[in-house]
Amino acid sequence: MEKTKKGIIGFTTTIPVELVFAAGYEPCDLNNIFITDENPMHYIERAERDGFPKSMCNWVKGIYGVVMEKGVDAVITVMEGDCSNTQALAEIFRYRGVRTIPFAFPYDRDREVLAREIDKLRKELSVDEHMFVEVVNGMKKTRASLMTIDEMTWKEGLVTGAENHLWLVRASDMLGDYERYNTSAKAFIADARERKNIEGVRLGYIGVPPIFLDLYEFIGSLGGHVVYNETQRQFVLPYDTNDIVRRYLMYTYPYGVFARLEDMKEEIKRRRIEGVIHYVQAFCYRAIEEVILRETLGVPMITIEGDMPKQLDTRTKLRIEAFIEMLTGQRT
Ligand code: SF4
Repeated sequence: MEKTKKGIIGFTTTIPVELVFAAGYEPCDLNNIFITDENPMHYIERAERDGFPKSMCNWVKGIYGVVMEKGVDAVITVMEGDCSNTQALAEIFRYRGVRTIPFAFPYDRDREVLAREIDKLRKELSVDEHMFVEVVNGMKKTRASLMTIDEMTWKEGLVTGAENHLWLVRASDMLGDYERYNTSAKAFIADARERKNIEGVRLGYIGVPPIFLDLYEFIGSLGGHVVYNETQRQFVLPYDTNDIVRRYLMYTYPYGVFARLEDMKEEIKRRRIEGVIHYVQAFCYRAIEEVILRETLGVPMITIEGDMPKQLDTRTKLRIEAFIEMLTGQRT
């Protein structure tokens, strides 16, 4: 990782990243560093060597491993609105001498509480107010390009589900440079405009981003087209407002399953989705949400579980294959 003037700030999930940029730091989503590494397993092994239990979510271990091995100047730990393990993770970081900055999304979506949290973060990072306005305007352009990529996926069929996933999931830190990210996104859009349309069974992907390394490619090889990546799209904060508090109030991911449901139902209808793949991570509390999702989404759903950053296992492949075959059968 290359360091900018003030340093690198890692985070455990999407946070108001405008503030990190405006304070002159380079933001770094630790999840993305972990999963895009050519050997993500070694971060998990590092965590287990340091005493993390086997029976624990591997994203948490991956994040720990990245911080220990790569080194960052501080970690923003999201104590509410993300992961039930973050409190213990933050304590281990502090114990290891890593500067941690707590941040919380209020579960009840209370505007005042969120405004206070954002303000606290602003002060902690010593955000430059002029810079902040510049960053908000600059990021608006990048977000617009990312929403174009999303539209090209579901409206025009020019972008694959795998590409959609990658472009949107990286919106959490925009690879540390939102202007450069926008330039790359625009070049990608120009190239993708020359392609032929993808035809296929229209699928939605819901849940946390997958730890599997080949999920989208496998779905594509079976004639499935993922036209909606729920959480990844949320990371783009696709809401047209200059009010940072409003933007992070509209963001659904931290506010529980009911906030997410509203968004999912709307997008399933708008994108004419035929079936949904619900991903759950082994040992994650979010797996319980399956009960509500199955009864309320209104389209066929399959739930798959991942554990390690590896290729899909045979059983999961067979289940996905049968699901897509079933949806294809329903078309005729
Ligand atoms: S998958 Fe679940 S347990 Fe793992 S980091 Fe995410 S929220 Fe936490």
